[in-house]
Amino acid sequence: MVSSPRTVDEHRAVVAALLDPMPAEEVPVAQARGRVLATDVVAAVALPSFDNSAMDGYAVRAADVAGAPVELPVEADIPAGRTDVPALRPGAAHRIMTGAALPAGADAVVPVERTDGGTERVRISGAAGPGEHVRRAGEDVRVGDVVLRAGAVLGAPQIGVASAVGCATLSVRCRPHVLVLSTGSELVAPGTPLRPGQIYESNGPMLAAAVEDAGGTAELLRFVPDDVEQFLGRLRERTADGAVDLLVTSGGVSAGAYEVVKDALTGRGVEFVKVAMQPGGPQGAGRVAELGGIGVVTLPGNPVSSHVSFEVFVRPALRAALGHPQPDRPAVTATLGERWSSPPGRRQFRRGVLDAVSGTVRELGGPASHLLGALARADCFVVVPEDVTELPEGTRVETWLLDG
Ligand code: AMP
Ligand code: MG
Repeated sequence: MVSSPRTVDEHRAVVAALLDPMPAEEVPVAQARGRVLATDVVAAVALPSFDNSAMDGYAVRAADVAGAPVELPVEADIPAGRTDVPALRPGAAHRIMTGAALPAGADAVVPVERTDGGTERVRISGAAGPGEHVRRAGEDVRVGDVVLRAGAVLGAPQIGVASAVGCATLSVRCRPHVLVLSTGSELVAPGTPLRPGQIYESNGPMLAAAVEDAGGTAELLRFVPDDVEQFLGRLRERTADGAVDLLVTSGGVSAGAYEVVKDALTGRGVEFVKVAMQPGGPQGAGRVAELGGIGVVTLPGNPVSSHVSFEVFVRPALRAALGHPQPDRPAVTATLGERWSSPPGRRQFRRGVLDAVSGTVRELGGPASHLLGALARADCFVVVPEDVTELPEGTRVETWLLDG
């Protein structure tokens, strides 16, 4: 009897269980771009940390300039960075630069453009109301505010605010290190001429890029021939140092002869199953005790199957291990711009292009799993549930937004 296929969600859970939450490490803020924060960042200083000027101009009491035009004596000069700012006497002005501390007694800044720019005395042609051009201490961030939450991905603004509140280093999750192994005796390196029957190896660099996009680090092991002894030998060599958190293979798992991954890892802790999805039916996952208990995910070889399987199973597992609050791709509901049919009993992941203005999605290429050119032009996956076989034009469909 043929056992019923595993569901997509069951296999997602099996793959997710292969990775533990990544430990944290401390890195300099300037090197934290793209990393995932391991702990909340709490502001040790307020932003701004003191009342300061938003303009180059003159610090005054608003009441003294209400009747402008007026002329006031200039009794101090306050460039940014001056730490011994004298208090302002009623009836006087201090020349002040953007970012400099507002003197005690002042409550407004008259921009230099509304003055004659004088250094002994200043002629002020336009008034400034109370609080005008003053940045108040704590108006943006108060001491004790959580400025970044654990799980945040550190981009430029996040690195900026962490630095502004005084962090020199940040606690981030270690990146999962993934060994990407591609099998197939037909595969050759780009840059060398192809003989009939050979193709350029593309899954390795593609999956390595996907690993890095997901926040991991990737190491490539390419051109492993369809030979069990060579496969196991190369694998033992590359996993001996224990640095690999996850092994992702491509190819050699379907129903033909010479299925090297299946032949090598069956009985070694990896379970090979059929998952109710398209593309990407043949899958495998498990831990290989003789390779230090390393987690292994075996993806099918067809490039689109490989990519889709990575997106559905491996990417969310890597992101969950990194502590992302939302490991999955963002999904929206779109309107199908054409009629589709879909096989029963399988969840389809079809490659599409979404028109963001109309919310209409159309397929690119077709459902076949070798159409890598079409995949490269797609910007979304459209998910067709297992029990849906007819999708008239206008059907509302779940659409996963891919990067870029
Ligand atoms: P397999 O699952 O090994 O039978 O491979 C299925 C199809 O994907 C075949 O047409 C292979 O040539 C192709 N394929 C497998 N691995 C790769 C790879 N690393 N790069 C490009 N194509 C591949
Ligand atoms: Mg193969």
